[in-house]
Amino acid sequence: MQLKLLDYTDTLSEIPGELCLTLSLDGCPHGCLGCFWDKFKGQGKFVDYHSLLKKYQDKGYCVVFLGGDWLPNIEDYFKLAKDLGFKVAFYTGLPEWKRINCLDYLKTGAYMKELGPLGSEKSNQKLINLKTGEQIK
Ligand code: SF4
Repeated sequence: MQLKLLDYTDTLSEIPGELCLTLSLDGCPHGCLGCFWDKFKGQGKFVDYHSLLKKYQDKGYCVVFLGGDWLPNIEDYFKLAKDLGFKVAFYTGLPEWKRINCLDYLKTGAYMKELGPLGSEKSNQKLINLKTGEQIK
């Protein structure tokens, strides 16, 4: 199972209180003005997704997908992470996402420069803990 990534990294910043394995997917079609990733579009590399997860398994990580709503089988990727014991978070640029079976966290909304980033007071973006229903940012 291959996944085309611009980058993957350990972070503590995407989901408060979670140790994150953050996957930046290549190919986002949303075209938000000022998107940091836009200039790297198409430069991603395919990685073996299962092997990547195995490296991080059983260490308490939450796998965070930065993008992927354009992939018809994105839920297969969520499910594999879930089956291997990870929490799963999904950042989508779409205003809503209903297929949340395998997800623990969901960020919705495209980046709009005039409204500011996720967490800013006017932002159209929201990060929800799907287990508690709480809006985290
Ligand atoms: S949804 Fe995210 S990755 Fe896609 S263009 Fe907008 S800011 Fe960039």
